[in-house]
Amino acid sequence: MYTTIDEFKRWGIVAGYTSAGGGYWRYFPSEDIANYESLGEAFKITPDQMVRVHQTHSAKVFCADRSHGGMGVCRNGDGQDYDGLITDERGLMLTIVTADCVPLFLFDPIKRVIALVHSGRIGTFLEIAAEAVRKMQEVYGPDPLDLCCVLGPHMCTEHHVIQKKDVEALSREGSATEPIPWISMEKSGNCHVDMGAGIVASLESTGVKKENIVDQHICTYERADLYSWRRDHLREKRNLSFMMIP
Ligand SMILES: [Zn+2]
Repeated sequence: MYTTIDEFKRWGIVAGYTSAGGGYWRYFPSEDIANYESLGEAFKITPDQMVRVHQTHSAKVFCADRSHGGMGVCRNGDGQDYDGLITDERGLMLTIVTADCVPLFLFDPIKRVIALVHSGRIGTFLEIAAEAVRKMQEVYGPDPLDLCCVLGPHMCTEHHVIQKKDVEALSREGSATEPIPWISMEKSGNCHVDMGAGIVASLESTGVKKENIVDQHICTYERADLYSWRRDHLREKRNLSFMMIP
């Protein structure tokens, strides 16, 4: 039902993502609370110890504590228009949904702070990864040099093809006038998007060490056991990523 991410195991951090059999992971109010309950059982927690944000491809990251337990999962809350979560709270599970976008996991083993970020094409362009590191630093004090980062399953460059007009639309989201270094254009007009490269550059710009960033290179489009928006067009069906300090 889910796969765990080994990179964080030696620190005892729970991190992973659900597989396609996992079904719906809608934002509250939802009828699929049973999915959250069943995931929680595996880690001896209940949905009121999980938090979710209402993702809108923003560059905003939400700092969650115990008082936010259940937000977006079994009750409404303040998480509208955020695409990332940070906490230093034990027993509070951060969750986000993706299907082709990048789930980015961050952990500081010194300060024991975690972050989970949804970074699609827009979020990567808006550098939500760097924003998450800055916010972790500002609120909880981690040194970016200590951060360990994992890029979970997302659509690879080969399959992430968009058109020139999409790149222009993306540029309009910000103030970029130069070519976007992680998007390459073929003579045919097809453009290949390397979200992973964009996120790694973003993280490195904050001081995160390259050797502390792992891209799992798992492509959602290629993997039948994961949801892919590009391949399936299944509305509301997403892979849920989760992270918790137990
Ligand atoms: Zn692929």
